[in-house]
Amino acid sequence: MDANTHYHLDKKATLVTMAILCLVACLLCSACASSSTSASSESGKSVAANEGSANPAGSASAGSGNICVKGDIVYTSGPDAFDIYENSWLVATDGVVQGIWSDLPEQYATDEYERIDRSGYLVIPGFSDLHVHAPQYAQKGIGMDYQLLDWLENVTFDNEAAFADAAYAELIYGAFVDELAACGTTRSVIFGTIHEESDQILVEKLREKGLGAYVGKVNMDSNSAEALTETTEQSLADTEKFIKSFEGSDNTLVRPIITPRFVPSCSAELMEGLGELAKEYDVPVQSHLSENTDEVAWVKELFPEYEYYYQVYDAFRLFGDTPTVMAHCIHLTDDEIAALA
Ligand SMILES: [Zn+2]
Repeated sequence: MDANTHYHLDKKATLVTMAILCLVACLLCSACASSSTSASSESGKSVAANEGSANPAGSASAGSGNICVKGDIVYTSGPDAFDIYENSWLVATDGVVQGIWSDLPEQYATDEYERIDRSGYLVIPGFSDLHVHAPQYAQKGIGMDYQLLDWLENVTFDNEAAFADAAYAELIYGAFVDELAACGTTRSVIFGTIHEESDQILVEKLREKGLGAYVGKVNMDSNSAEALTETTEQSLADTEKFIKSFEGSDNTLVRPIITPRFVPSCSAELMEGLGELAKEYDVPVQSHLSENTDEVAWVKELFPEYEYYYQVYDAFRLFGDTPTVMAHCIHLTDDEIAALA
């Protein structure tokens, strides 16, 4: 096997894996829901790869690191392939990968570069978690015998209401971000709660750790626990305040994302306003779609004029008008899958 062998992933298998990972990520919240990779190949000859590409390792020191790392390097050169370089050096300048070589080039063998020898170990890219609820770190593994809607009512909403207290957010979000880093999850798409002040604490924790993330202030003005029910006006105002707080920041790794919890917890007026904010500030969107059959039926009751669940988001410009992440997508028809493609 050549050192530069490409491993092509079956797209269906990948899709299924993603769905399972998202389910685990939502219910367990843990960063450890990310997948891991292992592979091997014969020792390779000298190669230079991916000149000047963005730092794929997602290092916590991205943007400031001059490092040379030796080991068996797994490199994801594209969305459907990865390359393996045994016993090789990966070099990054200011956090940007310069290439991979079997022998360290002279220009990098200087005191300006930290040398890290991990011979015999895999050197892998950082994990990316496309769906995780930071507040649910405090309830990890609790209430797993409930279906979705009962789990929200009996477990999750009580915990999330506690994030009205900034001190609680400090405690839980500090532990959550520490575990993200410890598990090698360097990039995440994260739900916070409705509480803008606590969401800001989460943003700060991620920045301090050097992790990259999209962070969403959650929107809920309907069909929710009293302590988590915002007025439509306040929900939109706090969302705009949250988005604007990122303006002028030197840190570009942590960014805002529009986050209606799911259709049942948002009025048409709220979704209309969120769609306008997404467009005005060019911000991506995340939400949930077709996780549970009772949820799907409830959406049909609330918005009978739409044939499919996703069409509600689409009607309010929350489905692909800006980059969009829809979590779960378990109970989809072929027509809906085609719309997602
Ligand atoms: Zn979720």
